[in-house]
Amino acid sequence: MRKPLVAGNWKMNLLIADGVRLVNELKPLVAGIAGVDIVVCPTFTALHAVGKALQGSNVELGGQNCYLKESGAFTGEISPQMLKDAGCSWTIIGHSERRQYFGENDALLNEKLKFALASGLKVMFCIGETLEERQGGKMNDVLARQVTQGLAGLSEADFDSVSVAYEPVWAIGTGVTATPEQAQEAHAFVRGLLKTQFGAAVADKVRIQYGGSVKADNAAELMAKPDVDGALVGGAALKADGFAAIVKGAL
Ligand code: PEP
Repeated sequence: MRKPLVAGNWKMNLLIADGVRLVNELKPLVAGIAGVDIVVCPTFTALHAVGKALQGSNVELGGQNCYLKESGAFTGEISPQMLKDAGCSWTIIGHSERRQYFGENDALLNEKLKFALASGLKVMFCIGETLEERQGGKMNDVLARQVTQGLAGLSEADFDSVSVAYEPVWAIGTGVTATPEQAQEAHAFVRGLLKTQFGAAVADKVRIQYGGSVKADNAAELMAKPDVDGALVGGAALKADGFAAIVKGAL
């Protein structure tokens, strides 16, 4: 059995005090839940303070992105070592907004993934097709490219620290959620790709989270599907009660 992983991606939202307040509300709502790995991913400026507020709780801290060098002349970037220094054990890599607005491609994301893992972070690696790609019958090709190239070179052991987040771009922030059947179909396809590329042991152990307009009222039925091992949550992670309800939907 794969332990569900539910993560909140706060994107470019919430000031430091808002983030601390949110997790101080969240902690008692999810206290004692051991059957779900719970992560919040604040903005970089809020990481340290939110991490301090989370100390001693069952909620882990993650970054939303990081670069592929430890330090140096890379203005505006942040390293995995800096994320760890701020209290992170996780980072997201390859979110569709990074791919779409910041031109991050599969080759770059593969480098970033490998460096984050080598630096000791766990990674939620995002993949997913656009509406145009799905309607054009290209969904499987796109997912296959993102998995093959994005995860290239990983070892079986690396996959203890990697979760794949299937996030159809047409469902992110749109209020249009994939149906549980659509999610299951895509997740099963991705698991099949993992089996072909890395073998059955990897395919069986890797968690595949669903992301795209997950809310308290649709989370449980999505995560009830056999290949849906949790959620990556954007908008609905900005309220403690809604996020806690999604976490409980994974139980
Ligand atoms: C996301 O940002 O990863 C996401 C899934 O956003 P939302 O839940 O708002 O669709």
